[in-house]
Amino acid sequence: AWITLEGGDGSGKTTQANVLADWLEQSGRTVVRTREPGGSEVGTLIREIVLHHRGDIAPRAEALLYAADRAHHVETVVRPALARGEVVLQDRYLDSSVAYQGAGRVLDPAEVRDLSLWAAEGALPDLTVLLDLDPAAARTRLDSADKPFDRLEAEQAEFHERVREAYLDLAAAEPERFLVLDAAQQPEAIAERIRARVAELLD
Ligand code: C5P
Ligand code: MG
Repeated sequence: AWITLEGGDGSGKTTQANVLADWLEQSGRTVVRTREPGGSEVGTLIREIVLHHRGDIAPRAEALLYAADRAHHVETVVRPALARGEVVLQDRYLDSSVAYQGAGRVLDPAEVRDLSLWAAEGALPDLTVLLDLDPAAARTRLDSADKPFDRLEAEQAEFHERVREAYLDLAAAEPERFLVLDAAQQPEAIAERIRARVAELLD
Protein backbone atom coordinates (compact mmCIF):
# COMPACT_ATOMS: atom_id res chain seq x y z
CA ALA A 1 0.00 0.00 0.00
CA TRP A 2 1.10 3.53 -0.73
CA ILE A 3 0.23 6.32 1.69
CA THR A 4 1.19 9.97 1.24
CA LEU A 5 1.01 12.84 3.72
CA GLU A 6 0.24 16.33 2.51
CA GLY A 7 -0.23 19.74 4.05
CA GLY A 8 1.49 23.04 4.48
CA ASP A 9 4.80 23.54 6.25
CA GLY A 10 4.34 23.03 9.98
CA SER A 11 1.15 20.99 9.64
CA GLY A 12 2.73 17.94 11.33
CA LYS A 13 3.28 15.57 8.39
CA THR A 14 6.62 14.23 9.55
CA THR A 15 5.42 13.72 13.13
CA GLN A 16 2.38 11.77 11.95
CA ALA A 17 4.42 9.74 9.47
CA ASN A 18 6.83 8.71 12.24
CA VAL A 19 4.03 7.68 14.60
CA LEU A 20 2.24 5.75 11.86
CA ALA A 21 5.45 4.02 10.75
CA ASP A 22 6.09 2.80 14.31
CA TRP A 23 2.55 1.46 14.57
CA LEU A 24 2.77 -0.31 11.20
CA GLU A 25 6.12 -1.87 12.08
CA GLN A 26 4.80 -3.05 15.43
CA SER A 27 1.97 -4.76 13.58
CA GLY A 28 4.54 -6.61 11.47
CA ARG A 29 4.59 -4.54 8.27
CA THR A 30 7.70 -3.53 6.42
CA VAL A 31 7.56 0.23 5.97
CA VAL A 32 9.53 2.35 3.54
CA ARG A 33 9.62 5.94 4.84
CA THR A 34 10.34 8.34 2.05
CA ARG A 35 9.70 11.87 0.86
CA GLU A 36 9.64 14.30 -2.03
CA PRO A 37 11.65 16.16 -2.89
CA GLY A 38 14.71 14.10 -1.97
CA GLY A 39 13.59 10.49 -1.59
CA SER A 40 16.46 9.10 -3.69
CA GLU A 41 20.15 9.85 -4.17
CA VAL A 42 19.50 11.85 -7.33
CA GLY A 43 16.52 13.41 -5.58
CA THR A 44 18.75 14.63 -2.75
CA LEU A 45 20.69 16.68 -5.33
CA ILE A 46 17.48 18.06 -6.83
CA ARG A 47 16.23 18.93 -3.33
CA GLU A 48 19.37 21.00 -2.76
CA ILE A 49 18.71 22.96 -5.95
CA VAL A 50 15.02 23.62 -5.38
CA LEU A 51 15.38 24.54 -1.72
CA HIS A 52 18.53 26.62 -1.95
CA HIS A 53 17.40 28.52 -5.00
CA ARG A 54 13.75 28.90 -4.19
CA GLY A 55 12.39 32.19 -5.32
CA ASP A 56 15.01 32.58 -8.03
CA ILE A 57 14.22 29.57 -10.22
CA ALA A 58 11.85 30.28 -13.10
CA PRO A 59 8.51 28.72 -12.03
CA ARG A 60 8.40 26.31 -14.98
CA ALA A 61 11.98 25.20 -14.32
CA GLU A 62 11.09 24.63 -10.65
CA ALA A 63 8.05 22.57 -11.65
CA LEU A 64 10.22 20.45 -13.97
CA LEU A 65 12.81 19.86 -11.24
CA TYR A 66 10.11 18.61 -8.85
CA ALA A 67 8.75 16.45 -11.66
CA ALA A 68 12.22 15.05 -12.37
CA ASP A 69 12.66 14.19 -8.69
CA ARG A 70 9.24 12.52 -8.75
CA ALA A 71 9.89 10.50 -11.92
CA HIS A 72 13.13 9.08 -10.53
CA HIS A 73 11.69 8.49 -7.06
CA VAL A 74 8.59 6.64 -8.26
CA GLU A 75 10.58 4.44 -10.61
CA THR A 76 13.51 3.59 -8.32
CA VAL A 77 12.00 3.71 -4.80
CA VAL A 78 8.20 3.58 -4.73
CA ARG A 79 7.36 1.01 -7.40
CA PRO A 80 10.02 -1.50 -6.29
CA ALA A 81 8.86 -1.27 -2.65
CA LEU A 82 5.21 -1.74 -3.66
CA ALA A 83 6.22 -4.72 -5.81
CA ARG A 84 7.86 -6.26 -2.71
CA GLY A 85 4.57 -5.85 -0.85
CA GLU A 86 5.88 -3.18 1.50
CA VAL A 87 4.04 -0.15 2.81
CA VAL A 88 5.35 3.08 1.33
CA LEU A 89 4.82 5.99 3.69
CA GLN A 90 5.71 9.21 1.97
CA ASP A 91 5.94 12.88 2.96
CA ARG A 92 4.58 14.89 0.00
CA TYR A 93 3.79 13.76 -3.52
CA LEU A 94 2.18 15.24 -6.61
CA ASP A 95 -0.51 17.09 -4.66
CA SER A 96 2.34 19.21 -3.24
CA SER A 97 3.31 20.21 -6.76
CA VAL A 98 -0.23 21.10 -7.74
CA ALA A 99 -0.52 23.20 -4.57
CA TYR A 100 2.95 24.81 -4.47
CA GLN A 101 4.13 24.99 -8.09
CA GLY A 102 0.58 25.30 -9.39
CA ALA A 103 -1.51 27.43 -7.05
CA GLY A 104 1.44 28.87 -5.09
CA ARG A 105 3.61 29.93 -8.03
CA VAL A 106 0.54 30.59 -10.16
CA LEU A 107 1.23 28.11 -12.93
CA ASP A 108 -1.87 26.32 -14.18
CA PRO A 109 -2.64 23.68 -11.50
CA ALA A 110 -4.14 21.32 -14.10
CA GLU A 111 -0.97 21.54 -16.22
CA VAL A 112 1.23 20.90 -13.20
CA ARG A 113 -0.88 17.88 -12.35
CA ASP A 114 -0.59 16.56 -15.92
CA LEU A 115 3.18 17.06 -15.82
CA SER A 116 3.39 15.12 -12.55
CA LEU A 117 1.21 12.33 -13.83
CA TRP A 118 3.39 12.05 -16.92
CA ALA A 119 6.51 11.95 -14.72
CA ALA A 120 5.04 9.24 -12.49
CA GLU A 121 3.37 7.29 -15.31
CA GLY A 122 0.02 7.95 -13.67
CA ALA A 123 0.88 6.42 -10.31
CA LEU A 124 -1.45 7.57 -7.51
CA PRO A 125 -1.36 6.63 -3.81
CA ASP A 126 -4.00 4.42 -2.17
CA LEU A 127 -4.46 7.03 0.54
CA THR A 128 -3.48 10.67 0.93
CA VAL A 129 -3.74 12.22 4.38
CA LEU A 130 -4.18 15.98 4.17
CA LEU A 131 -3.27 17.78 7.38
CA ASP A 132 -5.19 21.01 7.00
CA LEU A 133 -3.98 24.00 8.98
CA ASP A 134 -4.38 27.76 8.85
CA PRO A 135 -0.96 29.11 7.70
CA ALA A 136 -0.91 31.65 10.54
CA ALA A 137 -1.30 28.82 13.06
CA ALA A 138 1.43 26.87 11.28
CA ARG A 139 3.77 29.81 11.56
CA THR A 140 3.08 30.21 15.27
CA ARG A 141 3.69 26.50 15.71
CA LEU A 142 7.01 26.56 13.88
CA ASP A 143 8.11 29.62 15.85
CA SER A 144 7.28 28.13 19.22
CA ALA A 145 8.93 24.83 18.28
CA ASP A 146 12.03 26.93 17.63
CA LYS A 147 12.28 25.51 14.13
CA PRO A 148 13.75 27.62 11.41
CA PHE A 149 10.90 29.08 9.44
CA ASP A 150 13.03 30.78 6.80
CA ARG A 151 11.34 28.58 4.22
CA LEU A 152 7.94 29.84 5.30
CA GLU A 153 9.28 33.37 5.35
CA ALA A 154 10.47 32.97 1.79
CA GLU A 155 6.92 33.44 0.55
CA GLN A 156 4.15 35.83 1.36
CA ALA A 157 1.20 34.85 3.51
CA GLU A 158 -1.02 34.80 0.40
CA PHE A 159 1.19 32.13 -1.14
CA HIS A 160 0.45 29.80 1.78
CA GLU A 161 -3.25 30.66 1.65
CA ARG A 162 -3.33 29.66 -2.02
CA VAL A 163 -1.50 26.43 -1.20
CA ARG A 164 -4.04 25.60 1.49
CA GLU A 165 -7.02 26.28 -0.78
CA ALA A 166 -5.50 24.22 -3.58
CA TYR A 167 -5.05 21.25 -1.25
CA LEU A 168 -8.68 21.48 -0.13
CA ASP A 169 -9.82 21.64 -3.77
CA LEU A 170 -7.76 18.55 -4.60
CA ALA A 171 -9.29 16.67 -1.67
CA ALA A 172 -12.79 17.68 -2.70
CA ALA A 173 -12.15 16.44 -6.24
CA GLU A 174 -10.90 13.03 -5.04
CA PRO A 175 -12.75 12.30 -1.79
CA GLU A 176 -11.96 8.58 -1.94
CA ARG A 177 -8.20 9.04 -2.04
CA PHE A 178 -8.08 11.81 0.57
CA LEU A 179 -8.52 11.79 4.32
CA VAL A 180 -8.70 15.44 5.42
CA LEU A 181 -7.92 16.12 9.07
CA ASP A 182 -7.88 19.29 11.11
CA ALA A 183 -4.20 19.61 12.00
CA ALA A 184 -4.98 21.94 14.92
CA GLN A 185 -6.15 18.90 16.91
CA GLN A 186 -3.93 17.09 19.40
CA PRO A 187 -1.34 14.91 17.60
CA GLU A 188 -2.64 11.75 19.32
CA ALA A 189 -6.18 12.41 18.11
CA ILE A 190 -4.91 12.87 14.56
CA ALA A 191 -2.80 9.71 14.78
CA GLU A 192 -5.85 7.74 15.92
CA ARG A 193 -7.91 8.88 12.92
CA ILE A 194 -5.09 8.00 10.54
CA ARG A 195 -4.64 4.54 12.10
CA ALA A 196 -8.35 3.81 11.74
CA ARG A 197 -8.28 4.62 8.04
CA VAL A 198 -5.02 2.77 7.39
CA ALA A 199 -6.30 -0.31 9.23
CA GLU A 200 -9.28 -0.35 6.83
CA LEU A 201 -6.99 0.07 3.85
CA LEU A 202 -4.68 -2.78 4.86
CA ASP A 203 -7.50 -5.09 5.88
O1 C5P B 1 8.14 19.05 3.53
P1 C5P B 1 9.55 19.44 3.33
O2 C5P B 1 10.18 20.07 4.53
O3 C5P B 1 10.37 18.34 2.76
O4 C5P B 1 9.49 20.55 2.19
C1 C5P B 1 10.59 21.35 1.92
C2 C5P B 1 10.11 22.68 1.38
O5 C5P B 1 9.82 22.58 0.00
C3 C5P B 1 8.86 23.17 2.04
O6 C5P B 1 9.07 24.49 2.50
C4 C5P B 1 7.81 23.15 0.98
O7 C5P B 1 6.99 24.26 1.10
C5 C5P B 1 8.61 23.19 -0.31
N1 C5P B 1 7.98 22.44 -1.39
C6 C5P B 1 7.54 23.08 -2.53
N2 C5P B 1 6.96 22.35 -3.53
C7 C5P B 1 6.83 21.01 -3.46
C8 C5P B 1 7.28 20.34 -2.29
C9 C5P B 1 7.85 21.08 -1.28
O8 C5P B 1 7.65 24.30 -2.62
N3 C5P B 1 6.29 20.32 -4.46
MG1 MG C 1 8.30 18.16 7.26
